[in-house]
Formats: sequence, structure tokens, C-alpha cells
Amino acid sequence: MAKLGDHAKKLLFCGDMSDIQFAVGRDYDTVKIFPAQKVIMGLRSAVFHTMFYGNLPDPCAAPIDIPDILPEAFANLLSYIYTDAVTNFTPENVFQTLMCADKYDLPLLLALCTDFILGLLNVDNCLHNLDNAVLYANAAPDVLVKCLCLINDESAKTLWQSDQFHVVGQAALQAFDPRDALTAAADDIFSSVEKWVEFLRKVRDGITFPTVTTPEAQVTIRFSGDKKALTSDTTRFRFELPSNVHVSGVPVGKFVKMTVTVDGRSETQCYTPISDPKDRGFVDFAIKVYPPNAANPNGSVVSQCINKLQKGDEVCISGPYGLLSYDKNGIFVIKANEKSAAEYKEIRRIGMVAAGSGVTAMIPILRAMLKENLEAPKCSLVYSNPTDQDIIMKSELNYMASKYRKRFKLWYLVDRLCNPSLWKYGVGQISKDWLKDWMPKPDNEVVVLVCGPKEMVDNCKKLLLGLNYINDMIHVFSAP
Ligand SMILES: Cc1cc2nc3c(=O)[nH]c(=O)nc-3n(C[C@H](O)[C@H](O)[C@H](O)COP(=O)(O)OP(=O)(O)OC[C@H]3O[C@@H](n4cnc5c(N)ncnc54)[C@H](O)[C@@H]3O)c2cc1C
Repeated sequence: MAKLGDHAKKLLFCGDMSDIQFAVGRDYDTVKIFPAQKVIMGLRSAVFHTMFYGNLPDPCAAPIDIPDILPEAFANLLSYIYTDAVTNFTPENVFQTLMCADKYDLPLLLALCTDFILGLLNVDNCLHNLDNAVLYANAAPDVLVKCLCLINDESAKTLWQSDQFHVVGQAALQAFDPRDALTAAADDIFSSVEKWVEFLRKVRDGITFPTVTTPEAQVTIRFSGDKKALTSDTTRFRFELPSNVHVSGVPVGKFVKMTVTVDGRSETQCYTPISDPKDRGFVDFAIKVYPPNAANPNGSVVSQCINKLQKGDEVCISGPYGLLSYDKNGIFVIKANEKSAAEYKEIRRIGMVAAGSGVTAMIPILRAMLKENLEAPKCSLVYSNPTDQDIIMKSELNYMASKYRKRFKLWYLVDRLCNPSLWKYGVGQISKDWLKDWMPKPDNEVVVLVCGPKEMVDNCKKLLLGLNYINDMIHVFSAP
């Protein structure tokens, strides 16, 4: 007869008898839904027991959001809870699994994580892992001890000179040294400390982490090799930033120019990062690739070039550009033109009209304002595409519309349908009637954002003016 543990194993990642769901991760392409059974979660972890059986509000109505944890780390947590074992530790997910173990009070899982990390640590990666080791020093003290043991007389010179040295966190730096036994040439130490001070200066000046984009300068970023198809012609590309503490520096609502060189000629195109501005070490873009066709014999050279990038290939970006960004609590920072002063404007209702890859301009704004969990601003998006198969980031949009139904209304329009039977939205181009139905009524607490092909943008602007919106209420995303 099967033991109780064998039954539990069968329920791992399984919807059978599940009475709770977790939406884990925060990326458009990594949010993963995990079904689970409250009774098993509550039996194994005192924290889950309090969540589900304490006097807290019932968490079952919608999936429980866990945006700060990688799905793979949460899968490890569930694997431990249901089977007592974890088979999928990786260097990328183990610290996050350790964080879960600590957060959900699972000491044996903590021990498994610690063992894995101790087996992983060596001189080449001890500095890289020092920040995490310090961060989790209370939960896993042995990890910090080993990191510090690896920093010794023999390794010191290499480590002082390491490119990563100047970006280790302050707490990690304090743990790093001074220790009497450590010796290194004075020059090496001074040059490292100089870099470190430069970093601190930036922190003091209000830039939490170094950014890579400044309006004056072009910077080079490398393709990480990581890409994911979002539709048949649009792909999410991940680019590495110079170190894992760099952020893109592109505020929500702004965009960059990406420049590539083809046959000795520079070609440029505007793209909007779809990763979080706070993401460190990388930046993601959703890019539609336009091959040559009859109407446009060259297609889009930039997108074709990006589509052919190999891991490690470089492109240049500059920026951030744009006349509008979302600050917080419904406040936008808006400039009438490049030269005018920026004004802070409170917006209570946001209309969004997007076509095709123009939706990339809307996604970061939607994410930023919805996650604030306030009553306002409210937002409605009309999103037009040639077919129902061309909708970019559809699952994230649907997820936002169902989770924040009081604040976010979503309406798709398509020129023609591939799957008519499943369609509950509109067919046809953006028209005066669709805009009247879906956009907030014009007033001075409203802004309508428009991004898409030129003909669509021009047409929408005309239609909006015909519906009594004034120019000040309409913001068109356009290349500078
Ligand atoms: C600031 C900025 C940032 C950008 N960021 C990105 C990015 O990150 N990634 C990227 O790939 N591109 C980006 N672009 C490019 C831009 O979004 C696309 O070139 C543009 O949206 C074309 O989209 P598409 O080819 O996907 O449209 P399509 O897939 O061809 O969709 C066009 C839709 O528009 C509708 N339409 C066409 N004409 C009209 C009309 N006259 N009236 C009403 N509806 C009409 C059609 O019915 C169709 O449904 C950016 C552009 C700017 C200006």
C-alpha cells in the first residue's frame, strides 16, 4: 500500500484537489502558475499554516502573487514540501530557494541549499557570491564563512584587481576586509578602492546603481544569447548590461535608440525596454522583425540585424528618450517638447491606443501603475493587430485585466481572425466608435497614449480630436 508521502509526491505541480494557486515571477514570459494543496503547504510550513489557517483574509480568490521569486526557486520549494528532496538546484536559483526556505521557515531546505552553495563556491566566484552570502548570513552563516576563507593571501591579488570588485555591495566590502592576514600590493588596493569610491559617489548623488544610458552618450550592450518567441514575428531579446549591478536607467514610459552597423552604415530604431527599470544586469526588448517584402523591399534592417545576433554580439544604445514618463501614484512627468521644462501632472484616467509592437510602450506603464495597488489611476487599452495570433504579451495583458479588473479594461481589435470561435473581442480597425466606447471621457485629468504605425497614429489623433480631446490630452510616442 502506498505511504502518505507517496500520495503527496503525486500531487506535486498537479491541479488535482488543489485549492490554492501561486503566480510566481514577474516577467511577461516567466510568470508561472503553480497549483497547490493548502493542507500540505500548511503541514510543512508554519508560515503557510498561518496564511491559510490563521485569521488572515481568505487568499484563495485569485492566485497569490509572488513576484520577487524565480519560478524555478519556487518549484524547488514545492518539490521539497511535497517530496523532501530538491533535484533542480542551479547556481542561478539556489540563493532564491534559500530565500524561500528562510521566508517560509523550512530549516531542512535551508540546509540543502547551504550544502549546494558550499559545493559551488570557489575562488573564481566567491566575490560574485559575497553579496548574497552577506545578505543571507543569518540564514546560512557557513556560506559567508566559506566565501571569506576563499579570500586569502593567495587569492587576494586577483580578487582586488577583479572587475567585479568595485561593485560588491557595501556590506560585502566590509566583510571582505580589512583582515590582518590579507596582503596585496598597495597600488592594487588603491586602484580598487578608487573604483569603489567612485561607485559610492554615484550612490550618494542619488543614482542607486550605475546606469548605462545617458542622453549624451552611446553605450554598448551585448546580446546574452537568451531570446524567446512571443509571436511568429516578435521576439524577446535579452541584452547584458556591463555588470550585474547595472540597471538600464530607462524610466517607465521612455525608450532608447538602438544602433547597428550594416555594410558599414549605421541604422537606428527606437525600442522600449520591457524589463523592469530596476532589473540589474540585463535589459529586455520585444522586437518585431520585418523581413523584406513587396511593400518594403528592405524590411527593417535593424530588426533583421538583431534577429541574427549571436551570444556576445554588441549593439549600441542611447537614451533615454521620450517626452513622458510615469513617476508614481498617477503622476506623469510630461514635456510639451524636447526643449520645454518637465511638468508633473496627476492623471486619474489613462487611455491607451496601441497597434502591433506599439504595445511595448504601454506595458511598462501598465505594470508600474497597477502594482501600486491604489484605486487610481484607472486605465483602458485598445490594442489592434492584424490577427488574433499577432497579439504580443497577450497572457500578461489578460492576467493584468483579470487581476486588476476594477482598474484596467482591455479591448483587442483585429483586422481578421484566425480562430473565430474563441474570439470575444472586436474585429475591424480602430474607429471613432471603438474609441468612444473604450477611452475615458475627455477632461483635464485624462491622458490618451498612442503608439503604432504612422498611419494608425495619425488617424487615431484625428479621431480623438473629433471626440473633443484636446492636444494636451493626447500623447503620441514617436521617434525624436
Ligand atoms: C517610441 C517608440 C518605441 C518603439 N518601441 C518598439 C519596440 O520596443 N519594439 C518594436 O518592435 N517596435 C517598437 N517601435 C516600433 C513601432 O511600434 C512599430 O513600428 C509600429 O507600432 C508598427 O507596428 P507593427 O508593424 O507591429 O503593426 P502591425 O502589426 O502592422 O499592426 C498594425 C495595426 O494597426 C492598424 N492600423 C494600420 N493603419 C491604421 C489606420 N490608419 N487607422 C487605424 N488602425 C490602423 C491595423 O489595422 C493593424 O491592426 C517603437 C516605436 C516608437 C515610436
